[in-house]
Amino acid sequence: MNPVLAVTDLKKHFPIKKGLLNKEVGKVHAVDGVSFSLERGKTLGLVGESGCGKSTVARTILRLLDPTSGKVLINGTDVTHLSNKELRPIRRQAQIIFQDPFSSLDPRMTAEDIVGELLTVHEKLTKQEIRARVASLFEKVGLRTDQLKNYPHEFSGGQRQRLGIARALSLDPDVIICDEPVSALDVSIQAQVINLLVDLQDEMGIAYLFVAHDLAVVEHISHQVAVMYLGRIVEMADRDRIFQNAQHPYTESLLAAVPVPVPGRATERQILAGDVPSPIIRPSGCHFQTRCPYATERCRVEEPVLKTVTPGHEVACHLR
Ligand code: SF4
Repeated sequence: MNPVLAVTDLKKHFPIKKGLLNKEVGKVHAVDGVSFSLERGKTLGLVGESGCGKSTVARTILRLLDPTSGKVLINGTDVTHLSNKELRPIRRQAQIIFQDPFSSLDPRMTAEDIVGELLTVHEKLTKQEIRARVASLFEKVGLRTDQLKNYPHEFSGGQRQRLGIARALSLDPDVIICDEPVSALDVSIQAQVINLLVDLQDEMGIAYLFVAHDLAVVEHISHQVAVMYLGRIVEMADRDRIFQNAQHPYTESLLAAVPVPVPGRATERQILAGDVPSPIIRPSGCHFQTRCPYATERCRVEEPVLKTVTPGHEVACHLR
């Protein structure tokens, strides 16, 4: 089966310019050679600390940012060089849910207009047909149809995220990029939204790229997990292997921060110290060497490449 989303060696570098002549003096290597693919009906959890580049990956895939290089195929179409007009049909196939539903929903529009906006732009439907579609989307995401005329501020945080999901579903997409969709919500509401996404996936066969900074959040929803550090994937495998047999020291550290003990998961893990280094001046060799408890001289001079350690399990570390 062809993947619904295939990303190959994606890079997004932001130039740093200074002075009167606006001369380029450096680059922020936000995304630096990311590759993965996503099958229909599956979820890839993309995880890493703030500043690791995961949200830039999400936005570059949908061309909210233009990539520096690399390829993004959505249902087999390379979208990296398409014009806005050429992207139009692709936007039906791939949608996004943002972290903060409040700032991503126009406060002057009613819920009905927000959820129906894409239908108005992309489909030739009458007002009544759009209203009926919006009402059915409301029911699908667990909102009441008597809330159709309400404005975003009249909804709770969880309900606003449901509105964002209804809007993303409106064109029946094949893939939804979920950019930290539950990070701004209370823990109890997080579970409800994740369960809703899982139910919708079972019902509609949608694929999700689910971006989060916390491994615990992606555990329930992901089939595969990719861990990012300073713009690169350092470990990628199916969910169970990541949670039960993590191979990269950075993944181990992220797991150590997961509060709920899982039977079979090793307990003696290093808690991560310090912050992610600057993506402008990255550490030499392995980018994780400044925080890694196992770093050796080799790690300081030689960059590890992502390699297959067992079929379906890739790790970028000299120890593997
Ligand atoms: Fe740590 Fe070295 Fe592996 Fe990097 S390559 S994660 S520094 S052991």
